[in-house]
Amino acid sequence: STIPAPHLPRMSVFHYLFPFKKYKSKHRTRFYYYPEPNLEKPSFVDGLTGRFLTRKEVEEKAKSLATGLKAKGIGREEIGCIFGMNSVEWVVACFGVQALGAIVSPANYAYQPAELLHQLKDSTASFAFVQPSLLPVFMKALEADPAVNLSDNKIFLLCDKAEKDTLKAKGGVEAEWMDRFLCLEELYEKPGTPKRFQDGMEERTAYLCYSSGTTGKGKGVETSHHNITSQVQALNCSYEPIKYKDVILAMLPFSHIYGLTVTIHHPLTVNGTVVILPRFEEIAFLEAVQKFKVTWALVVPPMLIALLHSPNVAKYDISSIRGFMSGAAPLSADLVQAFEAKFPHIKVTQGYGLTETSPVAHVMNIEESRGKGRSGKIGRLMPTYQARLVDQTAGKDVEPLDRGELWLRGPSVMKGYWRNPSATAEVFAPGGWYKTGDVATIDKEGYFSIVDRVKELIKYKGFQVPPAELEALLLTHPEVTDVGVIGVYSKEQATELPRAYVVPKGGLASLPTPESKQAFSAKIQEWAASKVSNQKRLRGGVILIDVIPKSPSGKILRKDLRAMSVKAEEER
Ligand code: AMP
Repeated sequence: STIPAPHLPRMSVFHYLFPFKKYKSKHRTRFYYYPEPNLEKPSFVDGLTGRFLTRKEVEEKAKSLATGLKAKGIGREEIGCIFGMNSVEWVVACFGVQALGAIVSPANYAYQPAELLHQLKDSTASFAFVQPSLLPVFMKALEADPAVNLSDNKIFLLCDKAEKDTLKAKGGVEAEWMDRFLCLEELYEKPGTPKRFQDGMEERTAYLCYSSGTTGKGKGVETSHHNITSQVQALNCSYEPIKYKDVILAMLPFSHIYGLTVTIHHPLTVNGTVVILPRFEEIAFLEAVQKFKVTWALVVPPMLIALLHSPNVAKYDISSIRGFMSGAAPLSADLVQAFEAKFPHIKVTQGYGLTETSPVAHVMNIEESRGKGRSGKIGRLMPTYQARLVDQTAGKDVEPLDRGELWLRGPSVMKGYWRNPSATAEVFAPGGWYKTGDVATIDKEGYFSIVDRVKELIKYKGFQVPPAELEALLLTHPEVTDVGVIGVYSKEQATELPRAYVVPKGGLASLPTPESKQAFSAKIQEWAASKVSNQKRLRGGVILIDVIPKSPSGKILRKDLRAMSVKAEEER
């Protein structure tokens, strides 16, 4: 990296975000945050209601919650699950647990009981915060396995007293739950002074986000305090930095490391204002941008596609937005160009990373990419990271400009997978290199491109077919809104065949007859065949569907597509 490495403080997440006066004056110049935070400025705003907490209130409430949790017998290093959509309460719960010195294990709000149960059990969570509307799922998960270590007095409601009372008045099972569990407000006690860590303690785990990594089921990614603080320090000196004046839209799930680090930790260090939406929804997004004069938003590529094709954008004033940072999935050059052509005042920049890297490892600054033919690349390495591109079969670094598996090393690489030494051993190479499972290239100027994922590979008669490449190509077709590519096994040919699931522009309804569908599929297949090498042809077919299944963070759920292909095969 050409950017000098920032100072890397050795302290807890909480003390870093809400520093002591003494520490602050001693080390101020070494921090990349606004030197004298304005304690009265709104830090977190509810994007639907306008209700907000100032920086001072966030700190006070977090400390009050920490004292309350302690009074319930919850100690440092215990694990607390947070199960809820993005909200101001989510933030307070998160920093309350951090003030206590315990560990946050955030769960995806879209989880079904079995998925939640997996995380509760695997993480060994001993307390939990639950959004009231998600209690049915949560209770089902608990009932499914009495062994889960959560008693009623360690389950808390992610809401205030007023909301609790309203729900109680409704009666039924909900009222029963309201009687059983305390809400945040009822937990608060006199704020104390969070204990400082002894030397070396910053290597303790702060977060356990769940990621499947290269293979298999969700695993707890042990993210240390030092992983987070060094990531935020690096963000502040490397990517198009957010500033004091920025109003940042937080709609990516806080349960995913991208939403967690980049939208709720980082903005505190510049004293920016964060507008929270429970999730991405087009109209709520447009309304929040207009109402709060949002200047910056963290997005995933499907959101850009939605805005690009939305007929509603013109009805709102979105002139306050200066830029978007896209991450978590490939962002093609064509999408960037189409987006910037339609919205010239919005600059689109891109970051790359993984849950295991806390998350951002690469960033493409706006100045570096605009008009320089670099859009679509993921940028240069963050100053805190080192990278290698490795030929897996040969087990050595590739030649310059060749493609290789991206290996990363740096202070924000996870400690390992929680209570899973074998999975940890699989992803680390000697020397502390973390193997990402992504295939990348680097150009002469140090800009990286992700060209494939080893973890998702399709093989056609021994030839590699990178699905990411086909998807990026198909997205450039004017009649394709979205696409997901998987491999389907053909017994007859004894090989996988690349298959595309395609959302036609205008939806399935725009192609009402089987003939029109068939003609459309054939057209896409032929068009793709004219653009790719022989082995990459869509021999597995082009299947039209209404929506590509995606996780809340925007990743294509290939297992769902695979399940669809298996079902279709059985029905044949
Ligand atoms: P997660 O742990 O959920 O953040 O997923 C990490 C994976 O998302 C990476 O290994 C990549 O395969 C993919 N990914 C994240 N950011 C990008 C990006 N900018 N371009 C391409 N793939 C990305």
